[in-house]
Amino acid sequence: MSRRPTAPRRPAAIALGGLAVAALLLTGGPAGAAPADPAPPAPMNRAFAQAAEEFQVPRDLLVAVGYGETHLDGHDGKPSHANGYGVMHLVDNPDHRTLERAAELTGEPEADLRRDTAANILGGAAVLRAYADASGLDAAERRDVDAWYPVVARYSGADDARTARLYADTVYDFLADGFSALTPSGERVTVKPRDVDPELGRYAKVRSLDDPAEAAASSEAGTLSTDYPPALWVPAYSGNYTVGRSSAITHVVVHVTQGSYAGSISWFQNPDSNVSAHYVIRSSDGQVTQTVRDRDTAWHAKSGNPYSIGIEHEGYVDNPSWFTDAMYRSSAALTRHLCDRYGIPKDRTHIVGHVEVPGNDHTDPGPNWNWTYYMQLVRGGDATPPVQLNFTSYDTLRSGSTGAQVKAAQHLLNQHGFNAGTVDGVFGAGTESAVKAFQANRGLTADGVVGARTWTALLSAGTKPVLKQGSSGADVERLQRALTAALGRTVGIDGLFGTNTDTAVRDYQRTRGLTVDGIVGSGTWGALQAGR
Ligand SMILES: [Zn+2]
Repeated sequence: MSRRPTAPRRPAAIALGGLAVAALLLTGGPAGAAPADPAPPAPMNRAFAQAAEEFQVPRDLLVAVGYGETHLDGHDGKPSHANGYGVMHLVDNPDHRTLERAAELTGEPEADLRRDTAANILGGAAVLRAYADASGLDAAERRDVDAWYPVVARYSGADDARTARLYADTVYDFLADGFSALTPSGERVTVKPRDVDPELGRYAKVRSLDDPAEAAASSEAGTLSTDYPPALWVPAYSGNYTVGRSSAITHVVVHVTQGSYAGSISWFQNPDSNVSAHYVIRSSDGQVTQTVRDRDTAWHAKSGNPYSIGIEHEGYVDNPSWFTDAMYRSSAALTRHLCDRYGIPKDRTHIVGHVEVPGNDHTDPGPNWNWTYYMQLVRGGDATPPVQLNFTSYDTLRSGSTGAQVKAAQHLLNQHGFNAGTVDGVFGAGTESAVKAFQANRGLTADGVVGARTWTALLSAGTKPVLKQGSSGADVERLQRALTAALGRTVGIDGLFGTNTDTAVRDYQRTRGLTVDGIVGSGTWGALQAGR
């Protein structure tokens, strides 16, 4: 996809990130998978390394900015709410034109900056470097991640310094904690934890919204919400909502931002956006910021505005990595509070998605939002965190493996009657014997290793409803997961059987010697469930 020439050497990130290499090497399954690729492609790691070198931006900082913006998902060139594009969220709106700036600095056409991930990352690096030059960073300072804080804050595009700090603080939290992101094409990009001590520059005088203790201790009025005490208070632009209400509050509307947390708060402060919501919730830790008072009418759901409270959740509808347990719990606590305060029934008639409000054309919160879990939390009952089953690729798992994919395997084994014990994400002896029992049951080599074939069988297990283009729902998601494992490539998991799924089904049928008709009946299900 990348038009950019590829560097002959390995990027620094791969050299020091043994984890990244291991993750890539482990993706090849046993029999049935594509032949082992001696040099696994790592286009995004390469793009970050090249852009970092070309514009002398610290690689980890560049990745952390991209991760904060998009979780490294370029969304095929589709814009965010604020009209930002690509992994680096290059923006083209009346107030901020980093896309145009990036085009000037790199000579890349805007169309390429929007769609081509390598060009987009280069463009983001160019803008960061231009801001670094403008703030007077010299060559030595450019090598120091801590010196870039004011540059990162400016990259937020926020006119309000507190919001800019919120953005930069989040990036430096990512740098401190480290992270490992899986891109939509199944590539892993890792940033190792590091000690950070950012030089705040002019932002030292701006109170941190990100530190509740500092915010609470501030002598400035209005740092915290008066409607909902756990929330921060960053008011939207007064022209982006209506003072007062024409109707009683009877509903809560659940949204997904299609943009970052700080970016959304900033967008509501922007006089050109003409949108707002009452609350915004951060994906990583569930932090809540209120931007419009409950008693005022935020502009988030057209006909639904007068009678509802709008809650925005940081993320993108098509990428499940944003929907964290912390965000669900925090949002449910807020909704529970709102229901109690305004006498709103805790049911799905009154707590609705944006997509369900009449006269709206948005699809949020989308198929990755777990309503069952959310409503359990809202009602305050016992709720078990959802096990994430949707991944852009399925790694080979074996004794000693840990993490979210191990949890997924354990959950599926238990679900299909093979006792893997507690779903704890640790592949121990109990999990291994459950895998072997499952493999033997399905006629697979009982080696206790979950490779492509075992994943395919595990993910597809269950009923065999006939599915074809136009089908939708949980069974389509199950099919999409199984095809992702079987084909060893990302098949978008959205529960909608469209042309991409049709192509994947036909590819599967062709390579497995089945009738190639794009219809998933008992033959195709049978092959998937046998791990073919
Ligand atoms: Zn919405």
